[in-house]
Amino acid sequence: MILSNLTDGLSHLFYPRLCEGCNKPLLQEEEVLCLNCNIYNLPRTAYHHIHENMTFMRFAGRVHIEKATSFAYFTENGLLQHLLHGLKYDGKKDIGNYLGKQLGHDLKQTKWANNVDIIIPVPLHPDKEAKRGFNQANIIAEGLSEILNIPVEKEFLVRKRFTESQTKKNREERLSNMKDVFALTNIEKMAGKHILLVDDVLTTGATLEACALTLLTAKDVHISIATIGIVS
Ligand SMILES: [Zn+2]
Repeated sequence: MILSNLTDGLSHLFYPRLCEGCNKPLLQEEEVLCLNCNIYNLPRTAYHHIHENMTFMRFAGRVHIEKATSFAYFTENGLLQHLLHGLKYDGKKDIGNYLGKQLGHDLKQTKWANNVDIIIPVPLHPDKEAKRGFNQANIIAEGLSEILNIPVEKEFLVRKRFTESQTKKNREERLSNMKDVFALTNIEKMAGKHILLVDDVLTTGATLEACALTLLTAKDVHISIATIGIVS
């Protein structure tokens, strides 16, 4: 009894990392998820193989974008929800980096991002970022950048300090409200660039749409969008 407690204790010393999906100890080469959870429990969309996918269509008729994709389906109580919750509310940045890298590996398969010049994460409201200590989209963008070898520019697009309830507004009002939320800091350097806009989850797309419309005020830019999750 004592011996087995001791060996359990020791094994935790040597293998303290557990799979975020099934809580089993991770192998040395595994990160965040065990191979089994990575393969069978992450509902990948494979949207990078389909041009007019659900992510792309969510922006159709709203803002001109080149391509759009999401890594996996975000479902209630699903594994992706658990992972993104851990990232945002438990400060598990390794999860964000891991998901960014997973997205990167998918995009690399099809050369999806080959003509992208810079990655820009959707900025978080400054108060939220101060409270959380980080912007989850930045962490995801860095993981993605590691795999794609495309630089991340966190300062080009900023979110102005601005709070007003969105709930009583219609779509048009919300959008014009959102448009003033973002601003560009380096409009000359962005000219002619193909920008990949990155966020954690796509729901209505209002925030990404507002970001894209702001970015499009720079000369001759092209916008693509990639998110980790999509709420269908
Ligand atoms: Zn697992």
